[in-house]
Amino acid sequence: MSTTFDAIIIGTGQAGTPLAQRLTSSGMKIAIIERGLFGGTCVNTGCIPTKAMVASAYVANMARRAAEYGVTISGSISVDMKQVKARKDEISGKSNRGVETSLKGMSNCTVFEDHARFGSAQEIHVAGKILTTDQVFVNVGARASIPPIPGLQETGYLTNSTMMDVDFLPSHLVILGGGYIALEFGQMFRRFGSEVTIVEKGPRLADREDEDVSNALREILENEGITVRVNASVTRVVKRDGGIAIEGLPEDVQGSHLLVATGRKPNTDDLGLDKAGVETDKRGYIVVDDQLRTNIPGIWALGDCNGKGAFTHTSYNDYEIVAANLLDGANRRVSDRITAYAVYTDPPLGRAGMTVEQARKSGRKLMVGQRPMTRIGRAVEKGETQGFMKVVVDAETKEILGAAVLGTGGDEVIHSILDVMYAKQPYTLIQNAMHIHPTVSELIPTMLGEMKEG
Ligand SMILES: Cc1cc2nc3c(=O)[nH]c(=O)nc-3n(C[C@H](O)[C@H](O)[C@H](O)COP(=O)(O)OP(=O)(O)OC[C@H]3O[C@@H](n4cnc5c(N)ncnc54)[C@H](O)[C@@H]3O)c2cc1C
Repeated sequence: MSTTFDAIIIGTGQAGTPLAQRLTSSGMKIAIIERGLFGGTCVNTGCIPTKAMVASAYVANMARRAAEYGVTISGSISVDMKQVKARKDEISGKSNRGVETSLKGMSNCTVFEDHARFGSAQEIHVAGKILTTDQVFVNVGARASIPPIPGLQETGYLTNSTMMDVDFLPSHLVILGGGYIALEFGQMFRRFGSEVTIVEKGPRLADREDEDVSNALREILENEGITVRVNASVTRVVKRDGGIAIEGLPEDVQGSHLLVATGRKPNTDDLGLDKAGVETDKRGYIVVDDQLRTNIPGIWALGDCNGKGAFTHTSYNDYEIVAANLLDGANRRVSDRITAYAVYTDPPLGRAGMTVEQARKSGRKLMVGQRPMTRIGRAVEKGETQGFMKVVVDAETKEILGAAVLGTGGDEVIHSILDVMYAKQPYTLIQNAMHIHPTVSELIPTMLGEMKEG
């Protein structure tokens, strides 16, 4: 016996949940299936909990720096990891419960809490039942990818998911990987009081960024006492002296705990995609077109599992594209969006569009502007002068191609540039704008006025 739905959504990530709302509001009878925690990665093991923990780490750091601001704190600064976790759990738990309550209370929406698998292109197997439909929306997300390093499985390790249960202070956290997740966890645990070593196999941290951005991020972390090992070749992981030793490198690194943050892997290997004939690429990402349709009519893939983005906002934007095209007769496309993201180190890195290196590769004639945070009044007043901002412009069209704001408020400041890019207006528009004093954003027009050939 099977039950038929107008649409089935697999996964309650950042696209699946709002899509359920839109589809049911348009009169469709749908099923949504979740095998884990409602709200997916962002809510439970990604953005929300990590940013809550970053906030605790920020306070710990500022408390240690209190005297610089003329503030006296008597006694030493210590971090109660149980409280840090409790605060994080409260914040992310509220979102998780919010998603669950909204889905379970949604009319025309049946919620299944189990693992879903394709039986065919029109058939989903879940909890011993067969569901049939003409439209399936896959929003299964991704998980930590674990490299095949000898000894790793036997020794044990933490991932972004299991880090969520850590309510103690690791004495020495070794992090494999030098990407955004590694940098955020590394800095926060250093600020909580752990010794931290970041082990990256490539020549630099955050290697998708321009080299000066990578170098500045490294300097910021090293200034806080984090050890960074680049060009590290790891040959084996073993238990040693009650902790963990990473062998290779050239010298071994020994710590109390190991976090593996070496990339993400789509949750598509146990979905029965072959039964539906849905094509994946060699890394397991579901192949989609510019409107997020798979090769099989009636099946879409949204969010991290399609490889077109790895952020909450890209997943949510996927939902908007699919919903608008399907229900509003729109013609929205993934290629209409501009790369944008932030890295929540302190100071944060806000990014939009191309790096200077990418812009150079495009063969355009360029202009590049740059300003250190030490020359931005707001940053000086706040005592947060690490980092810099920079922008790259097409010298002929005057179009802004990209920007990076590594500095206090960088995650917010970047939007003033991003929005001009979306408006497809020349950089002179923002150069002539009057911005508020004192802000970091007020120096964007100045930076644009001081650009040089790049
Ligand atoms: C540590 C960390 C920090 C991050 N910080 C940020 C940040 O600051 N900003 C940002 O924009 N992004 C951040 N991200 C990325 C962001 O969390 C994801 O891009 C975002 O959650 C989008 O995910 P999604 O919608 O593709 O799916 P997910 O949110 O991963 O949800 C997929 C859901 O599908 C379920 N599922 C999977 N397979 C099945 C199945 N077969 N049957 C039923 N259910 C299934 C899963 O249980 C899961 O709940 C971070 C990620 C990590 C790991």
